[in-house]
Amino acid sequence: MDYFLTEEQIMIRDLARKVAEEKITPIAAECDREHKFPWEIIETLAEMDFFRIYLEEEYGGLNLGTMGLVLATEELSRACGGIALGFAASALGTMPLLVAGSDEQKKRFLPDLGSGKALAAFALTEPDAGSDAGSIKTTAKKDGDYYVLNGMKHFITNGGIAKYNSVVTLTDPDRGSRGASIFFVEDGTQGLSYGKEVDKLGIRASVTGELIFEDCRVHKDNLIGKEGQGFAIAMRTLDRSRPGVAAQALGIAQGALDHAVRYSRERHQFGQPISSFQGIQFKLADMATKLEAARALTYGVARMIDAGSRNFSKESAMCKLLASDVAMEVATQAVTVYGGYGVITEYPVEKYMRDAKITQIYEGTNEIQRSVIGRALVKEAASKKKM
Ligand SMILES: Cc1cc2nc3c(=O)[nH]c(=O)nc-3n(C[C@H](O)[C@H](O)[C@H](O)COP(=O)(O)OP(=O)(O)OC[C@H]3O[C@@H](n4cnc5c(N)ncnc54)[C@H](O)[C@@H]3O)c2cc1C
Repeated sequence: MDYFLTEEQIMIRDLARKVAEEKITPIAAECDREHKFPWEIIETLAEMDFFRIYLEEEYGGLNLGTMGLVLATEELSRACGGIALGFAASALGTMPLLVAGSDEQKKRFLPDLGSGKALAAFALTEPDAGSDAGSIKTTAKKDGDYYVLNGMKHFITNGGIAKYNSVVTLTDPDRGSRGASIFFVEDGTQGLSYGKEVDKLGIRASVTGELIFEDCRVHKDNLIGKEGQGFAIAMRTLDRSRPGVAAQALGIAQGALDHAVRYSRERHQFGQPISSFQGIQFKLADMATKLEAARALTYGVARMIDAGSRNFSKESAMCKLLASDVAMEVATQAVTVYGGYGVITEYPVEKYMRDAKITQIYEGTNEIQRSVIGRALVKEAASKKKM
């Protein structure tokens, strides 16, 4: 389908496709098997200015917004959802700064992040606070010009390898989520250490770690926004980043579909390629149609954000929900098209199925996305009634 992309968008998409085909595809299986983070790909992306895509020009960015980030993430994920995540999660970790950072903070941190020499991570989740993110327990107590952080974050993508961590804490625990504040905590800050890295079903080329804060002193200049705004900034961050998860899901689905179509033409049964069977063609048709619908919604939401819409919570949740469900379905059907070979690790599609699953879970599970969408619908209906 023609989305009438601009010349710059086409350039980013094609460049990402080239990196994916030439650099990521050859190492994807090994990184998955060995649970290996591909620093060489991060370096390549940095050299090609990928970490500048979504930053504004005044901070050294390319000003290609959410759409630029979506196109790049989708293409990289087509080759490997795990490798693409190291890149996309850095954008997530940077987002609180873009949403609520001061000019001084942006000038201080963005050059490093835009150059790709430093990665970022977004640290909200704790062992007892997943979907119920408002129940976090990590505290930040004011002490002169510093805040003293205590607590721990787990399941943090890029946790332990990022130079900058956007950490959601409670500066006023009595006020719950209304007492939350976000800090940009730098690697090497005294009192910050890293716990265990988890082993995973999919996206195994990405790092998922723990951040431990023990009397960790963070200067007040690293507070993003104001005290008490942390939860709102975190939610605005997720609204902006969910199209990125959708893009990762689109890439995974497209990769799985590409393999399924190719394999169906190569595999012969009953004296003919399995692609000649209507049963297989119907499967491929459904996979492609659902994928295109998810892509159209995701690009639409990205454009809505870039055009300056003020409220896109519902739409952002919708594209993450649809694209991730489609990715899971398409990848599972790709395994079906491969028959027994589908579950064999020598063949590529079982990895797409494993990688797809997480897109239904992180940045808010799809149950939570449905709650966000449902709540927004009810609120919209109530406000229409008042008019
Ligand atoms: C590989 C990986 C990477 C991650 N990266 C990050 C990261 O970079 N930063 C970060 O902060 N977090 C990250 N996360 C955490 C992720 O966002 C959470 O795992 C997710 O939000 C779900 O939380 P939970 O795992 O505690 O599940 P729970 O919240 O315990 O949910 C368990 C089940 O209950 C359902 N459920 C919960 N509440 C409701 C409800 N109200 N209505 C209906 N169903 C409900 C859920 O949908 C789910 O099916 C990552 C997780 C993983 C596995």
